[in-house]
Formats: sequence, structure tokens, C-alpha cells
Amino acid sequence: MVSADTALIDDLVTANHILFTEGVVDGFGHISVRNPGHPERFLIARSMAPGLVTAADIVECDLQGQVHDAQGRRSYVERFIHSAIYAARPEVHSVIHSHSPAIIPFGLLREGSHARLRPVCHMSGFLGSRTPVFEIRHSVGDDSDLLIRSQALGLALAQSLGGNAVALMRGHGSVTVGYSIQQAVFRAIYTEGNARLQMQALQLAGAAGDAGAGSISYLSEAESQSASAMNDEHLDRPWQLWKQRAQGLAL
Ligand code: MN
Repeated sequence: MVSADTALIDDLVTANHILFTEGVVDGFGHISVRNPGHPERFLIARSMAPGLVTAADIVECDLQGQVHDAQGRRSYVERFIHSAIYAARPEVHSVIHSHSPAIIPFGLLREGSHARLRPVCHMSGFLGSRTPVFEIRHSVGDDSDLLIRSQALGLALAQSLGGNAVALMRGHGSVTVGYSIQQAVFRAIYTEGNARLQMQALQLAGAAGDAGAGSISYLSEAESQSASAMNDEHLDRPWQLWKQRAQGLAL
């Protein structure tokens, strides 16, 4: 067992299950939390499907991506997503990586496209006016397996993320960060939902013969900030609901 508060580990386990039941992760994807007692370490499951994680499966990792586990267990190949972001962003306390499907198309669009991922709903105001897209080819060329396999690649992703809540990873998935497990989970779920809504709005605009730039009214920067601040005061409400639903999992 790692040296951390059992309530925090329970929340991390619950978050793994919530992300599965809410369709953010499947057999792949992961969530971590910074260890408040040792901020240069974070907690993450060993390499396994998130929906099956128990407290006994949590291991500790340092900010260079090295796993410290008395049993010598391995964690995810892409744990460097987490280690590098915690190293770059001291205020971040939880990181989620997923391949949630509705987001993928938005990572494929060119930089100047009017259809890049933007907030269409007040629940996703945390996206702000610009969600960066990480292009792995800029770091390793065009013959990689697209995975973040090293601290150097993790740091390149963290640089692309900058101060944002979410970064897309072209042809792969996304990363979401928060100041708590609850905030990161909220953001991951509503980023996927925003992608679905935005896609529908774009299709609707196209069906109406109005598919060009300006056909959709996205949230303004000020609306995004106000809505995000409001939602951050109510993170526990959906968390309790999602937790209840996840506890119906047959483990
Ligand atoms: Mn991945």
C-alpha cells in the first residue's frame, strides 16, 4: 500500500470507475492524483483497465515517471503524461488521459479551422477560447506509435497544454487536468459531451446550408470564465451521482 490518505485512494478508485461508466475510458486510459504528503509523487493504478481498479492496485510514481512499488509492479506506458504535467504545473493535482471518441475528430482539424474544439455549453466553459492540439510528429517524426513513452515526450505535451485545462492529442485522445480528482473528472466528462454537442451543431449548420465560420455561437471568453467559476462551486453534486452509478459496477 502506498503512503497516502485512504480517503484519497478511495476517491482515485471511484474516479477510475466513474470514468468507465460515463464513457470517458474503456480498456485504456488512466487517472492520477498528486500525493499531498509527497507532492513530488503521484498515485496511479498499475497497468490495467480503469473499470477494474481496486485500492490494492494503486502504485506511486515520481515526477520523472519512475514507479516506486515494493512489489515491482508496472504502471501504464504513458505514465509520462502524468509525471511531466505534474512537474510543469505545480497547481495541478489530478491528470486524466483518455481516448474518448467524440474528441478525436476535433484533434484532426488544421490550426485555423473554425470547427476546432470550443465551448458550446456552459458546463464546458473551462475549455476557454482555445484548446491546444498536441502534434507528436513535431517531436518524433511521422513513424511513432503515437504513445507518450518518455518524459521528454511528456514535457512536449505539457508545453502544448500550457495553462489550459484540456489538450487534444492528434489521432490519439486527450489530456485533462484539474486541481482535484473531482474537477478533473468533471472536466473530462464534459469535454466529451461538448465534443458531441459541437459535432451536432456543426452537422445541423451544414444541413441548414450554413457551414461556414460564424455559423455557430460559441461561448465568449468572459462567458466561459463565469460559467467555469460557477460550476467549480458545485463539483460535489455530479460527483455523488456518478459515484452512485459507478457503484453499480459488477466488479
Ligand atoms: Mn493513450
